[in-house]
Amino acid sequence: MIRVRFAPSPTGYLHIGGLRTALYNYLFAKQNDGHLILRIEDTDRTRLVDGAIDNLISTLSWSGIEFDEGPHKEGDYGPYTQSERLDIYHKHTIKLIKSGNAYPCFYPKDRLEAIKSKNISSEIVAEYDTRFRDLDIDESIEKMKYENHIVRLKIPSKGSISISDTIRGSIEFDLSLIQDQIILKSDGFPTYHLASVIDDHLMKISHVIRGEEWVASLPKHALLYKAFEWEMPTFVHLPLLLNKDKSKLSKRQGDVAVEDYKSKGFLKDALINYVSLLGWHGSDNKEIYNYDELIDSFSIDRIKSSGAIFDVKKLIWFNQQYIKKSDSKALLNLISQMLPTEWNLKIEMIDLLKDSVETLNDFQDHLKSFFVYSPMKISSDNTLFSDSIYDFLNLFKETLSKQDDINPNNFKELINTIKTEHDISGNIWKPIRIALTGSEHGPDISNYATILGSKTCVERIKLFLDLNVD
Ligand code: GLU
Repeated sequence: MIRVRFAPSPTGYLHIGGLRTALYNYLFAKQNDGHLILRIEDTDRTRLVDGAIDNLISTLSWSGIEFDEGPHKEGDYGPYTQSERLDIYHKHTIKLIKSGNAYPCFYPKDRLEAIKSKNISSEIVAEYDTRFRDLDIDESIEKMKYENHIVRLKIPSKGSISISDTIRGSIEFDLSLIQDQIILKSDGFPTYHLASVIDDHLMKISHVIRGEEWVASLPKHALLYKAFEWEMPTFVHLPLLLNKDKSKLSKRQGDVAVEDYKSKGFLKDALINYVSLLGWHGSDNKEIYNYDELIDSFSIDRIKSSGAIFDVKKLIWFNQQYIKKSDSKALLNLISQMLPTEWNLKIEMIDLLKDSVETLNDFQDHLKSFFVYSPMKISSDNTLFSDSIYDFLNLFKETLSKQDDINPNNFKELINTIKTEHDISGNIWKPIRIALTGSEHGPDISNYATILGSKTCVERIKLFLDLNVD
């Protein structure tokens, strides 16, 4: 059975790169009737953030990625939070020490203090620690009971190891460049390497699909598998996500938290569709995919190895496409909570505006003019307005006041008739827009006026003329 996992560290928010990793794992599991597991990797106690796990779970659930097992979903291989698995890591660490694959290094108080106060680099500490490498095993295990210690993996000092990655092929690592890795820290917590290898094995993970930044850890993981005499899973390392200038995607150049895009009014389907294409493409040039289509089309073979550029403009384009084709009623439901309750929203407003917004949040600005009007003060040098235009607006207001029912067609006809009868030249549509909306730009004005209704149109033109004509 295909079993994959998404294994985030709860450091505060879900990174766009994390969303892509979770998504690819999800698609792969779904198309193979496999299981997707959520595992919380919280062994770095210095980076814990309050509420981060709940936030992760709720953001993932917003994104539509469903897990089969996890801290929030019962399964046969739990617990799924690493801080609840310390016994398992300790037992396995002792196994490694007994088989001669790992060794404890002792840190009496004065040694710890010397390291801290002299700011000694980890390379020098590791070098010094090798003196514990060949200590008698039983004596070491006994000493662990009462002396501060860490545990290191014994990495062969020479030779190389080659590991296969589905996307990158076989990768060769020179072992002489790798220091004896810490696997258990002095606070009793395992490091990422030990915990993730043990868990991937015990949770029967068949494919490890994760970001390229973990390639460097592969030799340590491979040595751990070897030491435990376990079979390795298949490794799939996804390409890095880059900023437009090809630097690694970072907070400094824009938002990287999924939560930020959610709160800015991006639709989950648009975000998922865009993120699915960061490093993968379908067999043709198709760009728009819903979840079902992604599950059908996704293939690890078409993941590329070179970095993928995260382009917010392209994401906005996807969001616009999704908003345009969304049902107006559904959009109204999504946005109504963020708008003033006294606004009497109508579906027609959403129909009219959904072609011109980039995000859900834009609706508020665009909708505002239906409910809040302040006439624009026209300066005397504004060439759009002249006496004849003001006369026209006055006539238009009079005619409109006798017409209760307006629709886009009779609204246009009305204007054209007055224009011809009174022989008015020049652009009248912009002045009408300004008089009716208080702004120079906006959606189609005949549709807009229809939604507003003739009574409100008349009131607005009157306010406009009162302000601008003596
Ligand atoms: N906990 C690691 C992270 O935060 C997961 C790495 C892995 O998937 O092995 O990205």
